[in-house]
Amino acid sequence: MTSLGVVNSHAKLSVVGGGVIGLSVAWRAARLGWQVTVHDPAPGRGASWVAGGMLTPLSEGWPGEDRLLDLGLASLKLWPAFAQMLDPSIVSARGALTVALDAADVADLLRIAQWLQSRGQHIDVLDRAGVRTVEPVVSRAVRLGLYSPDELSVDNRALVAALQSAALAAGVEFRSETVTDLDALDADQVVLAAGVNSHQLCPQLPVRAVKGEILRLRSRAGSLPGPATTIRARVHGRPVYLVPRGDGLVVGATQYESADTQVTVAGVRDLISDAEAVFPAIGDFELYETSAGLRPMTPDNMPLIGRVDDRVIAATGHGRGGILLTPITVEGVLAALTDREPESSAAAALQTADPSRCAGVTT
Ligand SMILES: Cc1cc2nc3c(=O)[nH]c(=O)nc-3n(C[C@H](O)[C@H](O)[C@H](O)COP(=O)(O)OP(=O)(O)OC[C@H]3O[C@@H](n4cnc5c(N)ncnc54)[C@H](O)[C@@H]3O)c2cc1C
Repeated sequence: MTSLGVVNSHAKLSVVGGGVIGLSVAWRAARLGWQVTVHDPAPGRGASWVAGGMLTPLSEGWPGEDRLLDLGLASLKLWPAFAQMLDPSIVSARGALTVALDAADVADLLRIAQWLQSRGQHIDVLDRAGVRTVEPVVSRAVRLGLYSPDELSVDNRALVAALQSAALAAGVEFRSETVTDLDALDADQVVLAAGVNSHQLCPQLPVRAVKGEILRLRSRAGSLPGPATTIRARVHGRPVYLVPRGDGLVVGATQYESADTQVTVAGVRDLISDAEAVFPAIGDFELYETSAGLRPMTPDNMPLIGRVDDRVIAATGHGRGGILLTPITVEGVLAALTDREPESSAAAALQTADPSRCAGVTT
C-alpha cells in the first residue's frame, strides 16, 4: 500500500465474519483491488439474518446517547448511495412513527423531541389525530407520536443476499471455517467482523451478546392492511416495533443479557401482546417465523471501528444498530485499510467509534 492509498493489487485481506459488516467490507475492498477472503462457517446467518432492518437513528435516539445519534445520522446519509450501488429494492419502508400510549410515554417522547431539537435535529410531534393521519391502522389509544418521514427500513435478508452476490462478483473467496487465531491467517491485513465472537478472537474488544427475539408475520386473505410506516412504541415498559416487509410485518424485539438463541414462550407472548396494543388488527396475520439473534453489544453502546494494531482492524460491536451502521463502518474500515482520512461528513463521527477508547474496559 502506498501513502496515497493506492492498494497493491496482490495485498491479501482476510475478513473474519460474513455478516452484513464483513460482507460489505469484503465487497468494497475487493473492488479496490484487495485479494479478499471471508472466513465464516455460516455467512449471513448471524444477527444480520435475524434483524428488523430499521435505519432509524432519530426514532431510536435516547437523551445522553449523543455520539450514537451522530454516528447513526452520518450512516443514514450514506445509505441511499450504498443501496443504489447494491440493489435499491432492498429499501422496504420509508418513515418511522414512535407512539405513546400513556402519560409517562407522552412525557418521554416530548423529552426526546426536545433533546433532538437541542442537537439541531427535527422530528414532527403529532397529536392523536395527526398520528392517525400518518398511520390510520394504529390503535385509538395512542395519545401522541413522533414522526420522522426520512428514516428508512431495509429487508435485511435481501441485503445479506445482495451483499453475498456482490462480494462473489467482485472476486471475494469464501472459506467455510471458524477462525480460532488471527495470527494464523495468511493475510497482510485482517478485518475482525465476527459479531458476538469478536471478543474471543481479540480479548481487548469488550463485545458481549445481548439476545433478541423477533417475529415474522404475513397478511392472510381478509386481513386488514398492515402499517406502511415503521412503528415503534413502549408498552408496559418494553420496547416493541413493527416494520413493514412486503405483504407482512416484522415484530421485534425482546432484549436479554443472554447468549442463547432459543425462542421463549414468554418472549413471543409479550411481543404479540405489545404489538397488538399498537396495531389491534394483528391477530388476523399469520405468524410464520419466530427467531432469536445475538446483538454484539459494547459497554458504551458504540461500535468498535478502527485499527487495533498494524495488521488488525476492528469492525464489530454494532449492538442494536449494525444494519444502520453498515455504510459508515465500511467507510471507516476502507479509510484505515488505505491509510486515508474518511469522507469528511463521516470523519468526526467515526473518531468516536475508535476502539482505543476501550483500553482496559471489560465486557
Ligand atoms: C432481534 C434483533 C433485531 C435487530 N434489529 C436491527 C435493526 O432493526 N436495525 C439495525 O440496524 N440493527 C438491528 N439489529 C442489530 C444487527 O442485526 C447487528 O448489529 C448486525 O447484524 C451485526 O452485524 P455483524 O456482521 O457484525 O454480525 P453478524 O451478522 O452476527 O455476523 C457475524 C458473523 O461472524 C461469524 N463468526 C463468528 N465467529 C466466527 C469465527 N470465530 N470465525 C469465523 N466466523 C465467525 C458468524 O458465523 C456470523 O456470520 C438487530 C439485532 C437483533 C438480534
